[in-house]
Amino acid sequence: MRRSRVVLAVLASCALSLGMVGPAEAGVGLPPVVAKVPTQEKVVFITIDDGWYHDPAVARTLVEERVPVSMFLLPGATSYDTQYFTGLVEEGRATVENHTVNHPDLTALDAAGKDAEVCGAGEQLKGVFGRAPKLLRPPYGAVNDEVRLAAKACGVKALVTWTHDFTTWGDVPPPTPELKSGDVVLLHFTPTLGADLRRALDAAKAAGLKPAALMPHLKAAGLV
Ligand SMILES: [Zn+2]
Repeated sequence: MRRSRVVLAVLASCALSLGMVGPAEAGVGLPPVVAKVPTQEKVVFITIDDGWYHDPAVARTLVEERVPVSMFLLPGATSYDTQYFTGLVEEGRATVENHTVNHPDLTALDAAGKDAEVCGAGEQLKGVFGRAPKLLRPPYGAVNDEVRLAAKACGVKALVTWTHDFTTWGDVPPPTPELKSGDVVLLHFTPTLGADLRRALDAAKAAGLKPAALMPHLKAAGLV
């Protein structure tokens, strides 16, 4: 099963690189890359990546305020404290999605490497959380048609990047943007997540927007 998937991906990737399919045809039938969801509804999408730092206060906020979030988790980051995430899924409105096994730039890997990273993470997360992820966040937002093809072979329905990164990467938080309908907010499980999440929720409120679940809106937009 794994082998035939890899062979198919290799053949298709050869076809892409040999120019056997043109750029227009190349994108047809591949899962979309979504940085913002086209919608008229007053909604934003909160996404949280990686999973290394587990702040109980953040979990309380997400559960008590019933915030829908997509968590793009690395299996290795959840394995030492799985309960933190199963609690969010069972008690809150969180879903677990795919962020690869080792967080590589997928565009730099061959077909077998892409398969191992994307299908491998999907299988591990399904084993732990009981549901196969349908969305992939490619690390660094690095995508091309070959990555989309590999993702499709692993059952991914859409590759989700982001509109605004609210993560505090340095000493001070980044400037808070004015959020718009359909924006995808990127956060990370870091020690500043509590404050970063609060800034994102406040910015959504200030713009009259409500956090919403991604998948139903991707479906409504005809993207999946
Ligand atoms: Zn990441």
